[in-house]
Amino acid sequence: MRLNLAHTLPRSEANGPGARFVVWVQGCALACPGCWNPDTWSFARRDLRETGEVAAEIAATTAIEGVTFTGGEPFDQARALAELGRAARDLGLSVFVFTGYDLDELTTPAHRALLDVTDVLVAGRYVEAERAEGLAWRGSTNQRVYFLTERYGVADMMVAPELEIVLGPDGSLLVTGFPGRAFVSGKIDLARKGAAIG
Ligand code: SF4
Repeated sequence: MRLNLAHTLPRSEANGPGARFVVWVQGCALACPGCWNPDTWSFARRDLRETGEVAAEIAATTAIEGVTFTGGEPFDQARALAELGRAARDLGLSVFVFTGYDLDELTTPAHRALLDVTDVLVAGRYVEAERAEGLAWRGSTNQRVYFLTERYGVADMMVAPELEIVLGPDGSLLVTGFPGRAFVSGKIDLARKGAAIG
């Protein structure tokens, strides 16, 4: 199946427990005010990839314990991500998913297929008024963390770094994770140079 991606990062420690291959999908209709990744809202084609191709990249990445799906909205591409998540599981990797939907909104067969291969789900709209500092893996306090398998628990949330800054081979900067408000407001120039925060 085909995925429309924004970008990927082969190794991150700020998007779920441990070192993870992160997949940012392209397209989100939820339009949360204050979203850090508005460049991922459009459903226009950006980086079309076959799930098998991405799975092969994941398989070739050493020293990771899992994959993370974020965006954009992963559940708007649930069928393809369920396939990719299954491939990751078959490699012994864990699956961590960020969604703007609440869990009770994820009711379709495709949604359930993705939930079936998910170990940890962080769910709910980003609400600027409920933003708080130091929330592991969350941007605002209304968002909920669901441990859907026994692979992880609350103790794994205690060691989450706030953010990462990754320098790409082309000189681009990627800022990822859940930086505090002061950092975000102080790094506007980075964002204007193409950094993505999410
Ligand atoms: S915060 Fe997440 S769910 Fe909300 S608009 Fe941004 S990408 Fe979509």
